[in-house]
Amino acid sequence: MTRAYLALGSNLGDRLAHLQFAVDALAATDDVRVTAVSRVYETAPVGGPRQDAFLNAVVALTTDLAPDGLLALAQRIEADAHRVRAERWGPRTLDIDILVYDDLESADPVLTLPHPRMWERDFVLAPLRDVAPELVEASRTWEGVRETAVTLTIPWRNDSAPSP
Ligand code: ATP
Ligand code: CA
Ligand code: CA
Repeated sequence: MTRAYLALGSNLGDRLAHLQFAVDALAATDDVRVTAVSRVYETAPVGGPRQDAFLNAVVALTTDLAPDGLLALAQRIEADAHRVRAERWGPRTLDIDILVYDDLESADPVLTLPHPRMWERDFVLAPLRDVAPELVEASRTWEGVRETAVTLTIPWRNDSAPSP
């Protein structure tokens, strides 16, 4: 079992529904166990064209999937949420980035780990601090990031009950 953290983002359509769709799809995957979800943050877009504000969250999970399997799963869930890749950093229904996969380091452009831009992104670090405070500087403050009152839920699953 490996611990991984995934960043979720949406700024098209029903943003909260897209984030919850991702949590549900991850939790419904046999080789994945969602252990925690962050609060939901509304954030100003960074880079790319003029576009609407995002909702962002971070999911903590454990998995038996290899890194490339986890990336394939993330991309399948994005496609299921009708993600269309038009311009770089453009608006999207759902973006799922792998932030950290155990302590794996990889410079492969297909899957760079840890995610190369995470440490400069307040919209990633604010939710990451909710689920993995040890990874984020305690004194850090956020720009363009606002906590919302909406929340994500982790669907109950049979195998989440403690075994005898
Ligand atoms: P950014 O990576 O700056 O957040 P983005 O999320 O908009 O930008 P995408 O178009 O979603 O970029 O992804 C482009 C490519 O990034 C993907 O095809 C994927 O192979 C690659 N990639 C590299 N490292 C990662 C990672 N850690 N998590 C997800 N995708 C990654
Ligand atoms: Ca991204
Ligand atoms: Ca991405």
